[in-house]
Amino acid sequence: MHIKTISMKYYDKLIFELSRPGRKGYELPADNFGTDGMADIPADLKRTEPLDLPEVSELDVVRHYTNLSNKNFGVDTGFYPLGSCTMKYNPKINEEVAIMPEFSAVHPLQPAESAQGALELYYNLQQALSNIAGLAEFTLNPYAGAHGELTGLMVMKHYHRSRGDEKRTKVIVPNSAHGTNPASAMVAGFQVVEVKSKPNGSIDVEDLKPLLDDTVAGIMMTNPNTLGMFETEIVEIAKLVHDAGGLLYYDGANLNPLLGKVRPGDMGFDIMHINLHKTFSTPHGGGGPGSGPVGVAEHLVEFLPNPRVRKNEEGKFYVDFGKDSLGSVSTFLGNFGVMMKAYAYILTLGKENLKNVGPLATLNANYIKESLKDDYLLPIEGVCKHEMVFDGLKDKSTGVTTLNVAKRLLDYGFHAPTIYFPLLFHESMMIEPTETESLETLDEFIDVMHKVAKEAHETPDEVKNAPLTTLVRKLDETGAAKNPILTYKALKNA
Ligand SMILES: *Cc1c(COP(=O)(O)O)cnc(C)c1O
Repeated sequence: MHIKTISMKYYDKLIFELSRPGRKGYELPADNFGTDGMADIPADLKRTEPLDLPEVSELDVVRHYTNLSNKNFGVDTGFYPLGSCTMKYNPKINEEVAIMPEFSAVHPLQPAESAQGALELYYNLQQALSNIAGLAEFTLNPYAGAHGELTGLMVMKHYHRSRGDEKRTKVIVPNSAHGTNPASAMVAGFQVVEVKSKPNGSIDVEDLKPLLDDTVAGIMMTNPNTLGMFETEIVEIAKLVHDAGGLLYYDGANLNPLLGKVRPGDMGFDIMHINLHKTFSTPHGGGGPGSGPVGVAEHLVEFLPNPRVRKNEEGKFYVDFGKDSLGSVSTFLGNFGVMMKAYAYILTLGKENLKNVGPLATLNANYIKESLKDDYLLPIEGVCKHEMVFDGLKDKSTGVTTLNVAKRLLDYGFHAPTIYFPLLFHESMMIEPTETESLETLDEFIDVMHKVAKEAHETPDEVKNAPLTTLVRKLDETGAAKNPILTYKALKNA
């Protein structure tokens, strides 16, 4: 494939090199500093060489970052059907709430008596998530989904250890799982055992049975599974795993279609994480900040990480440290700003509207699935939940791949779906529309997907060379991952 790398000159000269010697965008109040413009700093600590920073005016900076932000793609600029990531609209009221100084200015070392409001919010969110999940208690400490997985697996480990059951060293993970599942199990010190999926994408119970012995600590699953299909045999699976002495871990990244309808606790799961930044609306393109609360069933509550927020008999909130806890997984209580957004989102929707999220996300996904299956290969028929996976184009005779289709979508102003995940198919294309998209947007997307399928047949080279209209064309993605150039100075020296 012809890969066009970014022209160094283009980035270096046209976009990034704005510095002019002596140009400044700030002025410091003179009376705070000595005559040489420096505070009263001991001579040996003073900088002897000027700091090597770009010298730019305020306007240069404003234009630079505004122009950069305009070149970015986000949920606020267009449809973002990135499967598994739940790129729903993040209501702006959440941001307003999260920056309220009454909350954002609270210091984590402040005495609990002086932070009752913040602790109450924290406590209420723990309760709300417990109700939504059907589990006994939640910790909000972990910073992301993967961090929640690790925390949950540490709970699993402590549970078995507390019973003197040290030989349980294996965690079963389906071959369709998100990569973080086996990775977290490894980091938690478990050995990963893979269980196969049936042709319809659900766990192969017959393959699972012989794996279940007294060395199994538990299984990690998600439901609906990675293909967006509900695991109808979950009750039987839960019984099998429990009978073998194992625990069930639920990857809550796919909780969106079940909100208020089906509870992981009721399905038999003992431990789960929720990606607050996905299901409960915090902007999460670009990697953060996130929050991955972990919920557990009654018999595991004592192992949750410290610190915890509790309420005493007088209704006062306090920070508690459990003695049987697995220890700490975070500094203080976690990413409070994300929790505020999640809490605002839950209260804004309310109990009844929260129950509409799943059905609408499911309706949108099925509408897309049924509309595209003539042009795109649908390996698994039937009603999906909030997302679906196609195995590339139905007609692959012209050699147009899933990557080509994804890049061509950029030309038409849509973000690409998740591609080449799950690994069950060669040309996976995972589409998640979320509940917040209108019928008009879905129709536009469907039109464009049909158009691209037609182009793939009639003018395949155009699709293979896409994107043709974006600022940068085909990137060397492997190079970008292996040798990332993260600053413009590194680019200059590269
Ligand atoms: C996003 C995701 C994760 C990991 O969550 P992060 O918050 O990105 O760490 C785990 N499992 C699934 C299915 C996901 O989609």
